[in-house]
Amino acid sequence: MNIMTEKIKVEEAVDISVVIPLYNEAESLAELYSRLVKTLSSVSNNYELIFIDDGSKDDSFCILERLHKDNPKVKIIQFRRNYGKAAAISTGFREAKGEVVITMDADLQDIPEEIPNLISKLNEGYDLITGWRLKRLDSFPKRFASRVFNTIASLLTGLPIHDLNCGLKAYRKTVVKELKIYGELHRFLPLLAHCEGFRIGEQELRHDLRKHGKSKYNSTRFLKGFFDLLTVLFLNKYLGSPLHFFGLFGIFFLFAGVGVNSYITYLRVSFGNIQGRYPLLFLGVLLMVVGIQFITTGLLGEMLADIHQENKEQPKIRCIRRNLNEKVLPARIKGDSPPN
Ligand code: UDP
Ligand code: MG
Repeated sequence: MNIMTEKIKVEEAVDISVVIPLYNEAESLAELYSRLVKTLSSVSNNYELIFIDDGSKDDSFCILERLHKDNPKVKIIQFRRNYGKAAAISTGFREAKGEVVITMDADLQDIPEEIPNLISKLNEGYDLITGWRLKRLDSFPKRFASRVFNTIASLLTGLPIHDLNCGLKAYRKTVVKELKIYGELHRFLPLLAHCEGFRIGEQELRHDLRKHGKSKYNSTRFLKGFFDLLTVLFLNKYLGSPLHFFGLFGIFFLFAGVGVNSYITYLRVSFGNIQGRYPLLFLGVLLMVVGIQFITTGLLGEMLADIHQENKEQPKIRCIRRNLNEKVLPARIKGDSPPN
C-alpha cells in the first residue's frame, strides 16, 4: 500500500480573544479574571484571555502566572519594560486567534459583563464596536477634555462616535490583523478603521470607578492626543497625495510673494527706486522662498508616497463573490440567531 499520510496541524478555532493591556494592576487581576471567565462561558467555550503585562513593577506577573497554570485559556505576554498601552494592544492583536477580539482595561473600570452586549451589536453587521460610557465615572476635567476631544475628532473625520477612548471595544479578526498601531494611536482605532472602510458602531455601556491604584496617565495626554489626531488625519487624508497638502500652502505663499515683488518692481520701474519699501521687499522674497519650499516638500512627499505605494494604495476588499453558490457571511458567535 502506497498511501502517503500527511500530518496536518489543525489550530484550535477560537471564537473570542480578550486582549487586556495592564501596567501595575495586581489588585484588580483576580476579580477581573473570575468575572471574565463567568461572563465568557455564557457566550462561548472557545475563548482565550491574553494579558499583556506592559512592564509592571508590582506582583501583576506572578498573579498572571498562577492564572495561566490554572487555566490554559489564559495567555500572558510580559514586556521587558513599559512600552505603553498602544504597544501592548498591538502585541495582543498579533497574538489573538479569535474571530472576535475584545479589548478592555484591567482596572475594572470596564465592566466584563458588558461583553455579550458588544458582541450582539457586532453581529448586527459591524466590523468594530466601540463602547460609549454614558455615565462615565471619571473626574470632571478628564470627562470635559475627553468630550471636547471626541467632538473635534468626530467633526474632523465625519465619524459620529461619542467616546473614542473607551477601553472596551469589539473587533472582527480582519480589523485587528490589518490596523497598524504605535505611539499612542490606540485612542484612534475607530478612526483608523473608519478610514480603512470598516463599518463602525457604538454600544452604550456602564462604567465603574477605579477600585485600586491610580490612572497611569496625566494631563499631558490630551495635548499629545491632539497631536496624534493631526497625525491620523494627515496620514489618512494626504498620505497618497502629499503635494495636494503642501502644494496648496506653497502656491498661496508663492503667489503672495510674486504679488508683493511685482509691486516693488513697479515702483522701481516707475520711480527709479523702491521708495524705502525695504521691509516689503524682504517680505516678498521670504514669501516666495517659503512657497517654493512647501512645493518641494510636497514633491519629496510624492516621491516617498510612490516608494510606499504598494502598501498604501491597494484597495481594501470587503468581500469577493466569484460564483453564485458562494455565501460570504461574517463569523458569528454562539448565542445569536443566525441570519436568514
Ligand atoms: N496601561 C498599560 N500601559 C501603560 C499605561 C496603562 O498597559 O503604560 C493599561 C492600564 O493598566 C489599564 C489601561 O491601560 O489597564 C488603561 O489605563 P488607565 O486606567 O490608567 O487609563 P484611564 O482609565 O485613566 O484612561
Ligand atoms: Mg482606567
